[in-house]
Amino acid sequence: MTGTQSPYIGRFAPSPSGPLHFGSLVAAVGSCLEARRHGGRWLLRIEDVDAPRTVAGAADAIIATLTRFGFEWDADIVWQSRRTEAYAAALERLKADGHAFPCACTRRELADSALTRDGSHRYPGTCRDGLPPGRSARAWRVRAAGVARFDDAIQGPQQEDLEADVGDYIVLRADGLFAYQLAVVVDDAEAGVTHVVRGADLLDSTARQIHLQRLLGLPTPAYAHLPVATNAAGEKLSKQTLAQAIDDHPPAAALTAALAFLGQRPPRDLAQAPLARVWDWALANWSLANVARRRHAVAPELT
Ligand code: GLU
Repeated sequence: MTGTQSPYIGRFAPSPSGPLHFGSLVAAVGSCLEARRHGGRWLLRIEDVDAPRTVAGAADAIIATLTRFGFEWDADIVWQSRRTEAYAAALERLKADGHAFPCACTRRELADSALTRDGSHRYPGTCRDGLPPGRSARAWRVRAAGVARFDDAIQGPQQEDLEADVGDYIVLRADGLFAYQLAVVVDDAEAGVTHVVRGADLLDSTARQIHLQRLLGLPTPAYAHLPVATNAAGEKLSKQTLAQAIDDHPPAAALTAALAFLGQRPPRDLAQAPLARVWDWALANWSLANVARRRHAVAPELT
């Protein structure tokens, strides 16, 4: 370990849309071990900003599972559902600085737009220069501009042209909820997160998050995107793909499988060892450099 002067702050930020599955365990393991390896702190944030996708009881179940697996976080859990004021303040700042504009477009109108008909989900810019006459605001968007570049510690150099690839993106949704992109940026900055380690399914969100950090005058953390666990059909494990809850498996075996998935080489008998021994091995041997530079990989069969 590199000592106590390290300012490393990492985090795990699950969305409580179902029980913890192997894919989310992988993100928890990777983010936690990377923080510990740097002598840093590791935080837990429940991303329940998207209320319609939040499943009653899922957050408590995730916390109970993490505890059973032996995870320990270094501060009180942050709940996005309790942070609306902070998100509203960030939106006010974006509005005041002229970076956000009201948008009247319905989903239907956007789907019918010639610019999006080619399969791209880019916003066609309809309300960018003002609401069409007689229409009222449904959502708020941020003007996309510039190219976001970052060097991902696993996936290598990345760049995204915000305007060409993403378009003006939503920060306040038509249903009145703040968008994940805004919430995550505000929360990471408030917690002083220096390193974001998470699944590569969020690689494409990173440019928007870096863009928002700049507009809001917030620091940009370092990023490392882990391969996402898929089923044999190549679908990301999720509630929709009926991923099995990780709680159905013995923690030592599941933890060992997550380490192997992340390119570490746990000894074969570790899966049957006491949980504390698995953690000891993981803390002593973890190396981010061993994680494959891949966006996804098939999850192992757990017994
Ligand atoms: N809540 C997101 C998810 O569960 C993760 C967000 C993040 O790590 O930035 O996919």
